[in-house]
Amino acid sequence: MSKPHGVCIFCGGKGLTKEHLWPKWMRPIIVFNTEGEHKRLRTTLKSIWPTSLVEKKTEDKTLQGSGINWRLRIVCQTCNGGWMSKVEHNTKPVIQGLLDETIRTLDEEQQAKLAFWATVRTAVYERDDPTWAALTPDEYGYIRSEKKPPANWRIWISSQRAAYWQTRFLHCGSVHGNDVTDRKGPNSQKTLLGINGIALLAASSTSSVADRYLVAVTPRQMKQIWPYIGEIGWPTAQCLSDADMMQIAYAVPNVR
Ligand SMILES: [Zn+2]
Repeated sequence: MSKPHGVCIFCGGKGLTKEHLWPKWMRPIIVFNTEGEHKRLRTTLKSIWPTSLVEKKTEDKTLQGSGINWRLRIVCQTCNGGWMSKVEHNTKPVIQGLLDETIRTLDEEQQAKLAFWATVRTAVYERDDPTWAALTPDEYGYIRSEKKPPANWRIWISSQRAAYWQTRFLHCGSVHGNDVTDRKGPNSQKTLLGINGIALLAASSTSSVADRYLVAVTPRQMKQIWPYIGEIGWPTAQCLSDADMMQIAYAVPNVR
């Protein structure tokens, strides 16, 4: 859903700053081509209600410059330097602990930190392509005030060894339910994130069939971290391959 330009996506405040898509602290731990170019892949899905047809569009763009410098001017100084900075600070040791495998069991608190971090990254990343952004102003407000993923979100984690997913975001906005015709933009999204050996998937829906959408996008191979179910051993028993990641990224949730 679109938000007016020039105001913070989270609080509506003015005085926007540029937010790095990949936080600066991640530079030593992520694999990036630091010169030349980076790829921007974009896939969009649209169910054509009330048929079972799905419109799928994939855009594969090679852009100049390193993706590490990719920034979006969408958040205010107060959010960026305040609560968002705290989220990074809180989550950094968890991500580092997973990467060097000093964390062997993910407890409830660690899962909550990771889940909220994935939520904030998803909210920021979505705005790179407002046409296919699915989050509502209510969701942005909830994220900022409650500091946890909204109830209509599900988040999963897994170990992964996919060569093409060492440093990658994939966002998939889609339209579902019988409110399709009333809405201008997507009402559901899933965002898959690869950080070296970690795969995170965040999905959300505000459609009339949100529950069914979330069931449809639930990956068998991943462990749910939001809402919390139980402790998770790390690395996970399943280690996702390129084929697994592609399947999770591009599976069409055909929900009406
Ligand atoms: Zn703000």
